[in-house]
Amino acid sequence: MSGGRRRRDTSSQETTLLGVAALAAEARGSRPRRGKAAFDVRRRRALVTVTVLVGLLGAGVAGFATWLTGADDTAAVAAPAAVQRVEVVGPRYTPTAADRARTPDRITPSTPLVALTFDDGPTPERTPFVLDVLAAKGAKATFFFQGDQVEKHPEIARRALAEGHAIGLHSYEHVYFPDLDQTRARDQIVRAEESLTSALGVRPTMWRYPFGEASPAADAVLAERRLVGGVGWDWRSNLKGDFECPGADAVARFVVTESRDEAVILLHDGGDAITCPAPQWDYLPRAIDQVRAKGLEFGLIAPTGRPNGAEETAVVAP
Ligand SMILES: [Zn+2]
Repeated sequence: MSGGRRRRDTSSQETTLLGVAALAAEARGSRPRRGKAAFDVRRRRALVTVTVLVGLLGAGVAGFATWLTGADDTAAVAAPAAVQRVEVVGPRYTPTAADRARTPDRITPSTPLVALTFDDGPTPERTPFVLDVLAAKGAKATFFFQGDQVEKHPEIARRALAEGHAIGLHSYEHVYFPDLDQTRARDQIVRAEESLTSALGVRPTMWRYPFGEASPAADAVLAERRLVGGVGWDWRSNLKGDFECPGADAVARFVVTESRDEAVILLHDGGDAITCPAPQWDYLPRAIDQVRAKGLEFGLIAPTGRPNGAEETAVVAP
């Protein structure tokens, strides 16, 4: 893997090498909202939103409902009534004429590869859109799914796998591992592993820590479960990440700026990023086109089979 400010999440020393403002902001902004209590609050909020939506739709005020959910009114897909009772479904992506006319790029051993990674999903609000874009563009990505989200939306997780994307684990409910003893760390790791294995029919072997924050207790459990731990990301610039809601132009600039051979780009299809105004999601089709214009293609993260201090994962051709 390339050197420089690679975030590997296995050493607290490396925290200082990060794209500093961005990571600090993630820890500051996200952590208090992602515990069990916050999860319950989110779930209640979603229920209230759905109730309001159904009422509004019944009254024929669909435009207001779209505005309320932040959905792009040109791309919103009307979900069946049964689905609306459960959750709000976000926008979808329709391939453009250019997408349909595109001839697949050839990836050779010398093609520089960048890995797009999406954390905290799957969510019905955003993961289908991300998968739509990747399919339309013929690009593959790596998803680090949360166990609790997979239990709620196993069909979305299965779609990601079926469409050729790589899937890793991101804990059961996005916990902060330095606060957990080994029993609770093991519970988060094993429950995530079991949820994903049950939903996908295959056992994921890669792991990314929530907030990139490891702990010796959790590392010991990962080793015991033979999970490849601490898949990190690159953050060489001081640009804002998607979870800070900087808008489509800024997120596209972040992705393009960070993209280089073997770079790992941190993005989200769940968590705080899905609360950003919907137009921000236009960054993805744009960024993919711009990264390709730089001569790069999209690779997947895969275990290298080289533990013991060597890089445990690499960016490989799909
Ligand atoms: Zn996360």
